[in-house]
Amino acid sequence: MAQVFQIAIDGPSGAGKSTIAKMLAAALNIDYIDTGAMYRAVGYKMLREGISLDQRDALKAMLDRTHIDFRQGETILDGEVISQAIRTPEISKMASDASAFPEVREKLVALQRAMGEEKSVIMDGRDIGTNVFPNAKYKFYLTATVSERARRRWLELKEKGQEAELADVEADIITRDHNDTVRPLNPLRKAEDAIEIDTTNMNGEQVTQFILNYINKN
Ligand code: C5P
Repeated sequence: MAQVFQIAIDGPSGAGKSTIAKMLAAALNIDYIDTGAMYRAVGYKMLREGISLDQRDALKAMLDRTHIDFRQGETILDGEVISQAIRTPEISKMASDASAFPEVREKLVALQRAMGEEKSVIMDGRDIGTNVFPNAKYKFYLTATVSERARRRWLELKEKGQEAELADVEADIITRDHNDTVRPLNPLRKAEDAIEIDTTNMNGEQVTQFILNYINKN
């Protein structure tokens, strides 16, 4: 059997991580694991159960009875498909806040490691190359300007029929960048050995091709 390997893709919101990761997964025929969706699933369940950020005991108890999985590209929370329901600004905010808690990160990181150890995967997030799989064979760090990232998110929301002001989307991205980079536990940062790609002026095909060329040569 071929050796199991991981491809880590990190970067801030809207840098193109999930688009690129899906294209790479299809090209390489390996699984894609969207770790942001896992933090979103926790945020979604907290909102649904009315657990606020200061109810740490309730949050811990909730995590103990939470099962998150991926099946055929869908995110499954306790047996329910939640892929679409977690893509709202409200859940983005809750996921970002909840992701700073050690108990949340501990549970999700353990789950991510288990998922990526049994088969080759592409995993995207904020701390994959630095913390989840520091020994990943390939590490990429995607960036883009704030205005371009906001424009992409805004288009994405619009395509899904969700009305949003571009300025609000940009403000939300700036807040999440801040939260993700200043939190003490596994903050967003480029792993020293990650290849940084500024995607501001690149489309998905160009970034994917760049990464595939790199992988083929290494
Ligand atoms: O990538 P996405 O926007 O779906 O992630 C939602 C939130 O989950 C992020 O803003 C971030 O706070 C958190 N996250 C994280 N670590 C990861 C992936 C996501 O803290 N590996």
